[in-house]
Amino acid sequence: MDIPKVCRYCGGKIVKTHSNVLYRKGKEPIYLCTMCNAYVGCYKGTDQPMGKVANTVLRLKRQETHQVFDRFWKGRGWTRSAAYRWLAGELRLPVGEAHIGMMEMDDCEKVIRLCRDYVVKKEGAA
Ligand SMILES: [Zn+2]
Repeated sequence: MDIPKVCRYCGGKIVKTHSNVLYRKGKEPIYLCTMCNAYVGCYKGTDQPMGKVANTVLRLKRQETHQVFDRFWKGRGWTRSAAYRWLAGELRLPVGEAHIGMMEMDDCEKVIRLCRDYVVKKEGAA
């Protein structure tokens, strides 16, 4: 993954800093846009960014997607690993790459749709 330097939302400058500038807690490295505060965290113990910077809208979408997906698989009595295997299969991704926290808007929409379609098609609920 390339180190982000220019913000994809506003064209602002992205700097490497630490999560405590946002949350007051934590010393995890993050890449933060100095103009609009879009940011991306890093893989644990590294300064490798987990994808592209995300703004508030995208972060809220990921939260919503997580809620829908978690409710979906828990409601079916699946394990977390079974749930992510299913999701990766549906998205045609390697299992290790089906991370909602790294998804873009359209992938989030796709996950929400997959959960709803599954309920409708396999379980006949509206
Ligand atoms: Zn920006």
